[in-house]
Amino acid sequence: MTEKTLAGGCLCGGIRFRIHRPVRDVWVCHCSQCRRTSGHYWATTAVALERFELTESKTLRWFRSSEKARRGFCHSCGASLFWHRDKSEQMNISAGSIDGPTELFTERHIYLDDAGDYYQIHPQELLETGKAMDDN
Ligand SMILES: [Zn+2]
Ligand SMILES: [Zn+2]
Repeated sequence: MTEKTLAGGCLCGGIRFRIHRPVRDVWVCHCSQCRRTSGHYWATTAVALERFELTESKTLRWFRSSEKARRGFCHSCGASLFWHRDKSEQMNISAGSIDGPTELFTERHIYLDDAGDYYQIHPQELLETGKAMDDN
């Protein structure tokens, strides 16, 4: 039975959140900003703001990563958790921070033009890629 509510948080527990389905399936972003902040490509789900709830945020900090977006991270353990475009009605959330089972699947890779040169992506994974989205 699919749980209607998913919970998650950072490594140290200073940030905890709950999200309520429906949530978007996972997109993997290969842009240089995501790679720098996460250490590799970054897998996220997304949910409408009204279905996103911070239940613990004592270590949450926001970093303005571009003119149109900011990133939420834990200043204690260093986890990259959130990406929010200014005025957007949805929050992007790192898939790896969600307590499993998530029952989500990876449906898309984006910003492949900006991917690092140190890894390869199996063609099978790209079947659902579609076009790169101008999302950052
Ligand atoms: Zn933390
Ligand atoms: Zn990105």
